[in-house]
Amino acid sequence: MKFLFDEMLKRLVHWCRIFGIYSEYIVGKSDSELLDYAKKNGLIFVTRDVKLFERCKEIKCVFIESDELEEQIVQILKETKVKMTFPDETRCPTCNGKLKVIGKERVEAVPEDIYKNNKRIWQCSECGKVYWEGGHWKNITRIYENVKKKVI
Ligand SMILES: [Zn+2]
Repeated sequence: MKFLFDEMLKRLVHWCRIFGIYSEYIVGKSDSELLDYAKKNGLIFVTRDVKLFERCKEIKCVFIESDELEEQIVQILKETKVKMTFPDETRCPTCNGKLKVIGKERVEAVPEDIYKNNKRIWQCSECGKVYWEGGHWKNITRIYENVKKKVI
């Protein structure tokens, strides 16, 4: 299951990618272009724009109701039945590429102390960006657990 988000939902895109959901985000296209693109590529369109939602006749569309991030993710999971693959599989928040766990041999990409202090290090298969658990990790797992509880 793959998704296309409208421009207003940048923060949500970022989080859906972290949780392993295929999430495209295109800036600078007209409404018609976005809807055509979703239709051609079999993407579920996610929007907060009522007018845009009403135009979704030929494609599946989720109209996001809440202002709150966790509720937004919960709504997508409930309405579409898409599954989060985090933490086994996660996607690059920047480009939607799949992240793969990299081994100790990739030292040149990551400073030594990062290796020492982090259990897992990932690299994006598309843009090459490197990620590690870091300080942000607690926040990510907290949101993940909260969302999971609300979906069950
Ligand atoms: Zn990437």
